[in-house]
Amino acid sequence: MKRVLITGAAGFLGSHLCGRFIKEGFHVVAMDNLITGNIQNLEHLFPLEQFEFYNQDVSKYVHVAGELDYILHFASPASPIDYLKIPIQTLKVSSLGTHNLLGLAKAKGAKILVASTSEVYGDPLVHPQTEEYWGNVNPIGPRGVYDEAKRFQEAITMAYHTFHGVEIAIVRIFNTYGPRMRLNDGRVLPAFIGQALRGEDLTVFGKGDQTRSFCYVDDLIEGIYRLLHSNFSQPVNIGNPDEITILDFAKEIIKLTGTDQKIIYKDLPKDDPMQRQPNIEIAKRELKWEPKVNRADGLKITYDYFKSLSQEELHKKDHNDFSKFIMK
Ligand code: UDP
Repeated sequence: MKRVLITGAAGFLGSHLCGRFIKEGFHVVAMDNLITGNIQNLEHLFPLEQFEFYNQDVSKYVHVAGELDYILHFASPASPIDYLKIPIQTLKVSSLGTHNLLGLAKAKGAKILVASTSEVYGDPLVHPQTEEYWGNVNPIGPRGVYDEAKRFQEAITMAYHTFHGVEIAIVRIFNTYGPRMRLNDGRVLPAFIGQALRGEDLTVFGKGDQTRSFCYVDDLIEGIYRLLHSNFSQPVNIGNPDEITILDFAKEIIKLTGTDQKIIYKDLPKDDPMQRQPNIEIAKRELKWEPKVNRADGLKITYDYFKSLSQEELHKKDHNDFSKFIMK
């Protein structure tokens, strides 16, 4: 049985990855320090023999007994509100944490796949974003802690590949959504659906003319699974190119939830990228991958998930207030 270490296992993407690898017959060693992850996301896997969980911060020395075939590094705060609240941990997990996991990969002879991000393109001047674009990032802006840590992560991962011969894969993840997102993580989809379910107005930042392209989680996981099993060691964009403005997205959510909430406008956070759409030609060519789930279907599944949450969960304090943080 092949063994895979998944960091950030209790998070949105990490927990879906754990499920997929269990389904594929792997032994999964899951790690998370639970500062943004939610252990409930893994509850259904705990009874399984081929699943083990360690509450650990991977920015500190990582020890795993036994053999490892693969490492997937998905530990990191990933919403703008999270990395504003915990900037130092955000920097550490993708720099020191990645270094530790690369060392572990080298020691075990394991292949490592690291979760990078469309944020390496910053507020992009090239549209749609191709992997060869180097980006437009403000290193000391509020998003710099995430963007620059992820850029460093790509650099050190590539260095371990060229210098030490460690097998690597780098996925640049664009906006992804689906069940198990945190309702209060500040990201636009849980923010809007949460607001609709609580009967609140939907908060559009700026004029809402900024764009994003949303990928359903199952599509993303499939892309990552294929990338891990390919021989491609350059960064690969995985995302859905179906682009929409945030204002239109708010209207879609209102229609989906069947509520008649109003839209209210708030200040646009500093350095909020104006447009984002992946060019996925490399994924198509190298992985024979492209997204299959359209937004209407994906949103319906996601909405049903949020609707099934308890009232207590729904009314947990929302962190969707950027004004508390230094954004301007
Ligand atoms: N956004 C919004 N209202 C909200 C939360 C987010 O208008 O309540 C906007 C945000 O300014 C950004 C987009 O939605 O332009 C996506 O934000 P998110 O935090 O989901 O992630 P990002 O893609 O910026 O990393």
